[in-house]
Amino acid sequence: MTAALLLAAAIAFPKEGSRLPLVSRCYVIGSADATNVVVQGHDVPVYRTGGWVTMVDVVPGTNTVRAGDAAVTFFVEQPPKGSGAAKSAEKKWEKLKYAGDVPRPHPAGKRPDAITVVIDPGHGGTDTGAMTPLGRMEKDANLAIAKFVRDELVSRGYNVVMTRDDDSFPELYDRPKLAHANGADAFISIHHNAPPFDKDPRQVRYTAVYAWNDIGERLAKAINSRMAAALGRSLKNNGVMHANFAVTRNPEIPSCLVEVDFITTPEGEEECWDEARRRKLAEAIADGFRDWATARSK
Ligand SMILES: [Zn+2]
Repeated sequence: MTAALLLAAAIAFPKEGSRLPLVSRCYVIGSADATNVVVQGHDVPVYRTGGWVTMVDVVPGTNTVRAGDAAVTFFVEQPPKGSGAAKSAEKKWEKLKYAGDVPRPHPAGKRPDAITVVIDPGHGGTDTGAMTPLGRMEKDANLAIAKFVRDELVSRGYNVVMTRDDDSFPELYDRPKLAHANGADAFISIHHNAPPFDKDPRQVRYTAVYAWNDIGERLAKAINSRMAAALGRSLKNNGVMHANFAVTRNPEIPSCLVEVDFITTPEGEEECWDEARRRKLAEAIADGFRDWATARSK
């Protein structure tokens, strides 16, 4: 089956009665209690926040998704071959090909040298990311901290693959693809934050770690608690939050995105360009990763 399609990821379930183009699999976002999702009589694995439904389950025509007592019916149709709809479905599928369907087993019990982690410094090249009051660029802060994280993890014996180690820009979807291609056990993206345009940039500053599914959330929690401990009362910790990012939306590999700090305040800029603090936070990220990798509870 090469035809591909996916449902928009922002919906709770396919909209009741909605008509969707046929794809080889579609995506279902479950609510927190939607642990048992049934499509056409098949059980579908659903992580806390969602899961994949394959063509085995979704067929052209009327489909019913059940989660607990709730049921939603939607209609799937095959777009005409070569049509715009078919091509755009194909394109989306290409972008998401990085992801396997089955969560990778947790590496507990493995030696560090048998564990691979992908470190992804956000942005790069012409994609600067956020800018500081003095015109410094997020991409540079991301890379600097990511290199310290890499060094820290390598010194502890882990295999580290970097999505970039210079000022280049790997295409967004190539980053999780790299994790898949390397059989990685985990993926950690490193960013610095900026508030939305309607917020006063001087008023917003905190650290947070984002994840999309429960396997990513466990990794995010381990890293976040070390970040919180390292920062103490010096920076607000917003905890682990849910985010549907290209690099966290990975059903196969536990993935998270660390927003180290906001660089849009003068204080944030100054502190984020402090090398000793960068090393300290990189160490916290590495500690969190090790906590996760060695955790008995998977
Ligand atoms: Zn960023």
